[in-house]
Amino acid sequence: MTGGLDWVKPGMCIGVKLNLCSARKPEHAATTHPVMAAELTKLLVERGAEVILGDSPGEPFTPAMLKLVYNTTGVRLCEEAGGKLNDNFSHHTVTFPKGKSVKQFEYCSWLSECDAIISFCKLKSHGLMGMTAAVKNLYGVIPGTMKSEYHFMHRDPADFADLLIDLNEYVKPVLCLCDAVEIMEGNGPTQGTPRHLGLLIAGKSSYEMDRLCAAILNIPEDEIPYITAARRRGFLSAAGTADYALEAAKYGIDDFVRSGATAGWFSPADGDKFVKKLLKKGLYVLMRSKPEPDDSCTACGHCVRGCPAKAIDIVKGKARIDRRKCVRCFCCQEFCPSGAMKVKRSLVARLASK
Ligand code: SF4
Ligand code: SF4
Repeated sequence: MTGGLDWVKPGMCIGVKLNLCSARKPEHAATTHPVMAAELTKLLVERGAEVILGDSPGEPFTPAMLKLVYNTTGVRLCEEAGGKLNDNFSHHTVTFPKGKSVKQFEYCSWLSECDAIISFCKLKSHGLMGMTAAVKNLYGVIPGTMKSEYHFMHRDPADFADLLIDLNEYVKPVLCLCDAVEIMEGNGPTQGTPRHLGLLIAGKSSYEMDRLCAAILNIPEDEIPYITAARRRGFLSAAGTADYALEAAKYGIDDFVRSGATAGWFSPADGDKFVKKLLKKGLYVLMRSKPEPDDSCTACGHCVRGCPAKAIDIVKGKARIDRRKCVRCFCCQEFCPSGAMKVKRSLVARLASK
């Protein structure tokens, strides 16, 4: 792995974009493990680099919120290793004419201070995209609760997938690392179940890394909308699924518990004709998953405040969703502090996946 840092020169400022999606302890497997982040910091500092580590969770991007996240996730260890945790909470508008889904977006300014970015993600199940690893990690370059607004503006999963690809093309991390030692399955990306996998994955391309991750978890590539989008846009290498299958045969698992995400089933693929695209859209409406609170809902109101469509109310001590307003962004599922909000497949989807 250290051979992968030969490009680091003394005096460089390296930004390490961790996954600190929420104030969760390391044992919950929702965030990049602090010990690995600290080890990376040491290696970079030894090479004479200045290291800034950070992320913007889905909560307000403020000093108070980030203090809670830094303390809870254990990433203060990186300070002991010579790194600095980001303390710049400003953001600015960047333009990206090459973007397909966004040509202009809000961007966390600390990343602009860095000469190079390393993306250090966590491998987890995801309610909307099916899986999160390197590509989705860069959604955190959009500041705080603005992420919900972007979800609302890009509610079609294929459009949202293109947004993720645009962010990856803009940031262009020099190196991608994936903490897959303790992964998260089930109700991810914040409230799922930790599972030991024992892998640390490194690569130069976030797209290729996620293809490998999908193979390791035995998830078909075409069921992850952003991999389909990357293929459609010509960002995947010629290395076929077969190459990753060889790695998966050595390190993979075949009983990974997935979230109920179905968006990937209907992502428009390269070469789809108009009628097929239309059919996929129709089937998506019929078979798309929905968020649904279970009996463990505490009526805390967190999802009410975070829903970009204003689709949730608390009724009789429980969250209730107005289905006509809901855009299926799954922000409520991602940030429900008690894990009560689940991804539920439609009856048709359940029958189809039997
Ligand atoms: S965030 Fe979770 S626990 Fe709180 S009201 Fe919503 S569903 Fe219930
Ligand atoms: S109810 Fe949940 S999934 Fe629906 S729009 Fe609101 S946050 Fe998104």
